[in-house]
Amino acid sequence: MKHSLDILPLKSWLDTGDKPLIIAGPCSAETEEQLVSTAHLLANTGKVNVLRAGIWKPRTRPGEFEGIGSIGLEWMKRAKEETGLLTATEVATAKHVEEALAAGIDILWIGARSTANPFTVQEIADALQGVDVPVLIKNPVNPDLSLWLGALERVNRAGIKKIGAIHRGFSSFEKTAFRNEPMWDIAIQLKGIAPELPIINDPSHICGNRELIPYVTQKAMDMDMQGLIIESHIDPSVAWTDAKQQVTPAALADLLDSVSVRKPESNNPVFEDKLAELRGQIDKLDDQIIKQIADRMKIAEKIGEVKRDNNVTILQINRWDDLVKKRIQLANALNLSEEFTTKYLELLHNESIRKQNEVMNTKPIAEA
Ligand code: PEP
Ligand code: MN
Repeated sequence: MKHSLDILPLKSWLDTGDKPLIIAGPCSAETEEQLVSTAHLLANTGKVNVLRAGIWKPRTRPGEFEGIGSIGLEWMKRAKEETGLLTATEVATAKHVEEALAAGIDILWIGARSTANPFTVQEIADALQGVDVPVLIKNPVNPDLSLWLGALERVNRAGIKKIGAIHRGFSSFEKTAFRNEPMWDIAIQLKGIAPELPIINDPSHICGNRELIPYVTQKAMDMDMQGLIIESHIDPSVAWTDAKQQVTPAALADLLDSVSVRKPESNNPVFEDKLAELRGQIDKLDDQIIKQIADRMKIAEKIGEVKRDNNVTILQINRWDDLVKKRIQLANALNLSEEFTTKYLELLHNESIRKQNEVMNTKPIAEA
């Protein structure tokens, strides 16, 4: 899959040195006091770059808390003024975009339910025309890489070059320990397609509970993701949304202390991506080679049957010499060493003879 993204590297618009980008804050802005005091605690950890809070909440069922609405944007502004943290919120309509921008929100994100709907994404993209604001795009709820990439492209085509992806896991029929199956391979594929695209992991929505968060956080770092968005609430036990998965700012600080941010050996994510991609190609080829060897053995067995039924010896040395000669010629032309090719063919021949032997020494089915 190819992409048409024109991306500015994360470092050029939000430099976090050699540390991952950390976005943290409550699932929802609930009250001014809850938001501002959480923001202070997060800022005091010295480990958080951006304050997140949902102002408009996409809920599965109506009647649940659907976000505090526009007033929350004023609280975000105050939290930013008092702490110096950048701010981020979810937008799902053109009106959200306008209001969030008017309130000076620094980073917008598109939620998983919105990403799944190209009409919604296009509406948001149209509202972003001519605006210079970073936009992060969560993966769609369903495991569809094209849909995720398509949303990134729609926003990018509106002129947004400060763009990133958020990996928050996928709905899956199979129920596991995760709220949303991480399906790491999809995020890795996206990385393979667009290595310059920053991908931020959202362990909170992948896990759905606090206990699993350290495991997923470490895994995300080991997958060389560029950042984390983690839900943090001053008192998770009374949170109005996603209470089970939120952590206190102190717990967040402990978590961030405990993860090891390993440097990829090469110190070069582009190289690592390329390596993973090439290894994937090798794996595919190896699978094909094994299958083809198995097919070859089946044909050898058939030859065994024919020889048996015609009372001919297994080994016809001329045929074998001829085969080896021709294969070595081909191998030489393809830059494979003669020594390797000879050894490989010998191994193959031995196994082939063993198989034929089995066949020769069993009676034809009709006589059995
Ligand atoms: C959220 O970040 O609070 C949220 C609603 O996430 P998602 O869109 O990933 O479900
Ligand atoms: Mn949430």
